Amino acid sequence: TASRVAAAPEDPLFGLAKAYREDPSDKKIDLGIGAYRDNNAKPWILPVVKKADDAIHNDPNLNHEYLAIGGLPDLTAAAQKLVVGAESPAIREKRICTLQTISGTGAVHLGGLFLSKFHPLKPTIYLSDPTWANHNQIFTNVGLNIAKYPYFSAKTKGLDFDGMVQALQAAPTGSVVVLHACAHNPTGVDPTQEQWRAIAAVMRERNQFPFFDTAYQGFASGDLNRDAWAIRYFVEQGFEMCVAQSFAKNFGLYGERTGAFHFVSAPGSDASEANAHIASQLAILQRSEISNPPAYGARIASRILNDPVLFAQWEEDLRTMSGRIQEMRRGLRERLEARGTPGTWDHITSQIGMFSFTGLNEAQVQTLRSKWHVYMTKNGRISMAGLNTNNIDYFAEAVDSVVRQ
Ligand code: PMP
Repeated sequence: TASRVAAAPEDPLFGLAKAYREDPSDKKIDLGIGAYRDNNAKPWILPVVKKADDAIHNDPNLNHEYLAIGGLPDLTAAAQKLVVGAESPAIREKRICTLQTISGTGAVHLGGLFLSKFHPLKPTIYLSDPTWANHNQIFTNVGLNIAKYPYFSAKTKGLDFDGMVQALQAAPTGSVVVLHACAHNPTGVDPTQEQWRAIAAVMRERNQFPFFDTAYQGFASGDLNRDAWAIRYFVEQGFEMCVAQSFAKNFGLYGERTGAFHFVSAPGSDASEANAHIASQLAILQRSEISNPPAYGARIASRILNDPVLFAQWEEDLRTMSGRIQEMRRGLRERLEARGTPGTWDHITSQIGMFSFTGLNEAQVQTLRSKWHVYMTKNGRISMAGLNTNNIDYFAEAVDSVVRQ
């Protein structure tokens, strides 16, 4: 049977990383990576994470026992507050159940698996076009049908709001709609608050089910509350919904695989009982898949979230990361505009978060790679975190050159 398994295509992002590693040029720039880099292009351990980590190492009471199936209770309780707000009626009314997961990927998967097993209608999952590539695979792997809604306008390099709303209006009632809470990956384009209100109104009318993916809270704007606005608005509007939460980017805990899945039930007299039933089913799914989640990253995140002094320092660290990225956005736009590079470049600063959809085409991306040793995905997405004060001039020169070709 082994010979009947055809080789799978290489993951495009990992292929890109390999080509970058093997390029001997000292000018090379990695703009493919989905991880924060400091101004020296190095991974950054958040100072607050270092502090929490040191405290954990010095704690004589810690051991390597298993966590509970649902994870570390101090983490899951704090994760709920972080996402919906500490004062949310959904918490007070016990309408949210939360399980710690294998980072954001595991949270999306657990939610997908739950919907595939328990949703009475086997709904279609609507994904933004484009979206984080893994969404397609995760939902397909659990046997759900996926469809797309328009999201990015190549013309404005902003949101195709009309296209999105029309697609939701045309989507069957009861469909599940995956929404990026902030800092949309890969485009960096988010709806405005007014547009979110309109999206919620259509989804309400069509009785659609939001599935929020929040991988950049606090990392996008530097403000944890602002980056959670859309989710909190939908909760206020009384939606029943899923939230997949990653702590990879905002704590820099990438490899520690720390995240959470939340199911929020709609308000109602039986909401907390129904939610407890859902929690019990989610626990069985979790048990059969991972038994229980990893402890190390959870302990770090939990310490920070539950200690007001560490929490304040975390907010500072978030501002350091988002501030440097915003500086790179301004710097890149300024340089391209100063050179008179053909085209408009205001989208570089209006887009938000780790990524920018530059509008560069596949041929331009190819030349950037072969001639300039600049590595990015072929859809023209760049990771802003790969830019720094040492390489931004060179990158602007490279972009200018390929655009004029
Ligand atoms: N969703 C989106 C939109 C993402 O960009 C990411 C990170 N690339 C994730 C989920 C999950 O990542 P992780 O599993 O590392 O938390």
